[in-house]
Amino acid sequence: MREVTVIGSGVMGKGIAYACAVSGFRVTLNDLNEEILSRAREEIENLMDSSFHAGFLEQEAYETAKRNLVYETDLPAAAEKADLVIEAVLENIELKIAVFRQLDAVCKPETVLATNTSTMSPTEIGAYTCRPDKVVAMHFFNPVHKMKLIEVVKGLETSDETVAFIREIATALKKEAVEVNEFPGFVTSRMNCLIGNEAMNLLMEGVASAADIDKAMKLGLNHPMGPLELADLVGLDTRLRNMEYLHKTLGEKYRPCLLLVNYVKAGRLGKKSGKGFYEYE
Ligand code: NAD
Repeated sequence: MREVTVIGSGVMGKGIAYACAVSGFRVTLNDLNEEILSRAREEIENLMDSSFHAGFLEQEAYETAKRNLVYETDLPAAAEKADLVIEAVLENIELKIAVFRQLDAVCKPETVLATNTSTMSPTEIGAYTCRPDKVVAMHFFNPVHKMKLIEVVKGLETSDETVAFIREIATALKKEAVEVNEFPGFVTSRMNCLIGNEAMNLLMEGVASAADIDKAMKLGLNHPMGPLELADLVGLDTRLRNMEYLHKTLGEKYRPCLLLVNYVKAGRLGKKSGKGFYEYE
C-alpha cells in the first residue's frame, strides 16, 4: 500500500498530506482550484524546509517527501490510483456525501475511503457508496505533524479489516490509534467542543478575559493549550459547524455560544483569518 489521496487542502488536509509524505507514502493532494493548491503547496514546503533545518526530518525523508507529494485539481485523476483516500473537506454532510459518491465511482474496488470528520457519521456517508464496509472515520488532530492521536471510528457497516488497515497506517505514520464505535462527536470532539463552548460562554458573560480563561485552564487544570486559543487554531467556522452538528444530534447541551456565531458572521475565523479570540500576524 503506497498511494494516499487527500481531498481538501485546508488546515487539516495540508497536515495529513505532509504527515503521509514524510512517512514514505506517495501522496496526491486535491482541492477545488490551482490557487488554493499553490497556497497549500507553499505552506507544506515551508514546513518541510523548517522541519529539515531544525533536524526533525532526516535528509532522505525530506527528499522523498518532496518528490512524492503531488497536487491535482481534478478529483477523478487524483483518486483513481489511490489505495487509501482521506477526505478533509468542510464539515458539511451534504458535501462529504457528494465527495464520497464521486470517490466511490472512480476509485478501485479495494480502496478504503476515510473521512477526517470531527463529528459526523461514517455509517451515513458509507450508505451512499457501494462499499460501506470500506468507509471509516480517521480523525486526525491539529497540527497533524505534532499530534500523536488518530481516532478510528467504526461505522455500523465498517469491517474489522478496514479498521485493522487504518491501524496499520496509523502505525506507519508513527501515531497512536484509539478505536471508537460511532456516536456523534466520537470521544474527543464531543468533550472538546463542550469545554470550548463553556469557555466562550464565560467570555461572553464577562466572567474573565480570554487570556485569563486560557491561563486558568493551562495552569490550574494542566491543559497544554487554553480552550480559546485551541478554538482559534481549529478555525471558528469549523468549530461552529461541529457545534451545530452536535446540537442537532445530541441536543440542547451543545447549543453553540452566541459569541462564536457572531465571530463567524464577522469573518473572525481564528488563526487562519488573522483574528479570532486573539489577533495574529
Ligand atoms: P478548512 O476550511 O481549513 O479546509 C477545507 C478545504 O476543503 C478547503 O481548502 C476547501 O477549498 C476544500 N474543499 C471544499 N470542497 C471541496 C471539494 N468538493 N473538493 C475538494 N476540496 C474541497 O477545513 P479544516 O479545518 O481542514 O477541516 C476539514 C475537516 O477536518 C472537517 O471535517 C473538520 O471537522 C475536520 N477536522 C478539523 C480539525 C481542525 O482543527 N481544523 C481537526 C480535526 C478534524
